[in-house]
Amino acid sequence: MQNVIAVVEHRKGQTRKVTYELATEARALADRLGGKAHAVVLGGEAGALAESLKAYPLDVVHVAEDPDIDAYLLDPTIDYLEAAARAIGPSIVLVPNTMYGRDVASRLCARLDAGLAADVTGFEVENGRVACVAPKLGGVTITTCAFRNCEYGVVTVRPNSFTAQPGGGGASVEMLAKPAGKSYAMKIESEVEEASSELGLEEAPVVVSGGRGLGGPEPFETLLKPLADALGGAVGASRAAADAGWVPYSLQIGQTGKTVSPKLYIAVGISGAIQHKVGMRSAGTIVAVNKDATAPIAEFSDLVVAGDAFAIIPELTKLVETAKV
Ligand SMILES: Cc1cc2nc3c(=O)[nH]c(=O)nc-3n(C[C@H](O)[C@H](O)[C@H](O)COP(=O)(O)OP(=O)(O)OC[C@H]3O[C@@H](n4cnc5c(N)ncnc54)[C@H](O)[C@@H]3O)c2cc1C
Repeated sequence: MQNVIAVVEHRKGQTRKVTYELATEARALADRLGGKAHAVVLGGEAGALAESLKAYPLDVVHVAEDPDIDAYLLDPTIDYLEAAARAIGPSIVLVPNTMYGRDVASRLCARLDAGLAADVTGFEVENGRVACVAPKLGGVTITTCAFRNCEYGVVTVRPNSFTAQPGGGGASVEMLAKPAGKSYAMKIESEVEEASSELGLEEAPVVVSGGRGLGGPEPFETLLKPLADALGGAVGASRAAADAGWVPYSLQIGQTGKTVSPKLYIAVGISGAIQHKVGMRSAGTIVAVNKDATAPIAEFSDLVVAGDAFAIIPELTKLVETAKV
């Protein structure tokens, strides 16, 4: 496996942020393996999206704009990805660890007879062999596993595990030929958008997170959501809050939850355990609102607001709303 292929995820004409992280990491891995960095972008808007990928240090962006890709469930997508991977040759295929990516990865693995590493947060390369680092067993262990006896390795990569870095540029764009002799069974009849999507938390520029210090589920709605809305952000949580059933696990940030990397992270009533820290430490600015000014989170926060969240957050929300007028 020498080459690296980043699978592009997009929706409504927007490339997901994780794609750029994958493109950047594809370059880094390909350099360490002595191969090339490729991306594959599929669907009606693929041509335009390929242009935005040219800002990243890829060698080739493969494109297919076949209307079947958007009209049917994943079958055409998998056909195109398989064809691209076989044309490129033995490769590591990087897929976002999102709902879309997990669907793609499992089916592509079967087609390519590939090894699969899931929810990967780091890579090690030694003597041309790629090993994937991933939390397992609910984060109790961190495993490192290497591909053996396979030409292809498919990896789902946890969003926000790598930093997207534009640069290089100059990738060539190549059109993929339609795989021959295919007919598809599952046509999409209609689509209904969920009010709160997975995209929200992982790509929000601001995250306002709550922990055990909030004491129950209501403050997530009445205290944190108004502040998050005022800042154009999303609400997150510590595991203590998710374990207590105050919020769904989809909001949990940390070792066994999501990794976020917003410009601003506001931790409210969260002590800052290491398992929480690993999911948000790469945020641009970290603000802690905590009764205890010496809580561990103070050690890695840019600003600590010491006091009762129930007094501070409504005032802060008012200030933000006033500043916007
Ligand atoms: C294998 C494993 C995996 C884990 N994975 C995760 C994970 O993914 N994510 C995660 O978050 N945790 C995880 N944990 C749990 C982690 O160790 C901590 O137990 C958890 O993060 C604590 O949550 P907390 O900060 O909300 O609660 P606490 O540690 O109880 O902290 C509550 C904080 O609220 C403050 N506070 C109280 N009242 C107020 C108030 N009125 N106003 C302001 N501040 C107040 C307190 O001073 C305190 O600092 C994991 C643990 C293990 C063993």
